[in-house]
Amino acid sequence: MSGGKNGKIRFATVWLGGCSGCHMSFLDLDERLVELAEAAELVFSPFVDTKEFPEDVDVTLVEGAVTNRANLAMAERVRERSGRVVSLGDCAVTGNVTSMRNLLPTSAILAPFRSADGRAGSAFLDYTSVPELLPRALPLHQVIPVDGYVPGCPPDADRIWEAVRALLRGEPVALAESMRTFG
Ligand code: SF4
Repeated sequence: MSGGKNGKIRFATVWLGGCSGCHMSFLDLDERLVELAEAAELVFSPFVDTKEFPEDVDVTLVEGAVTNRANLAMAERVRERSGRVVSLGDCAVTGNVTSMRNLLPTSAILAPFRSADGRAGSAFLDYTSVPELLPRALPLHQVIPVDGYVPGCPPDADRIWEAVRALLRGEPVALAESMRTFG
């Protein structure tokens, strides 16, 4: 692990195709956030105002499935620029709720959305205002290699903390069996 100029671990969290519940659970670390802040610098996250995912990140937690082209580009950038990448929550680990849309083709999902001229799905299918959907929503590890998994919908704060502590020590994420449940 490289560590930043201040000696702290460069830590990031990323929000892809998820409901943000995993990030809300991360905030439930409560006073443990102080301990995290002493060891790590949060260089990218929905919680901070950085616009571009930076270079030389040590650890990145990723919430959500990969469901559109913007998610895909971000996942690839995260992998390229992060020492270790961990799937945070069931949507990243399995696809979970986000992948329920895989039961239908994207054309059927977009059909109810009609533009002013009545063309079904056209407001979205030209993809001028929203990122293009992938044919299927995918768990993160089907798009990039990942270094660990934190299951749960959302994973509770104790589980997240176990993973974060291991990552701060430079150890693999090896949760106890009781912390490896879904849902
Ligand atoms: S795992 Fe659950 S809490 Fe986390 S993003 Fe998915 S639906 Fe939301």
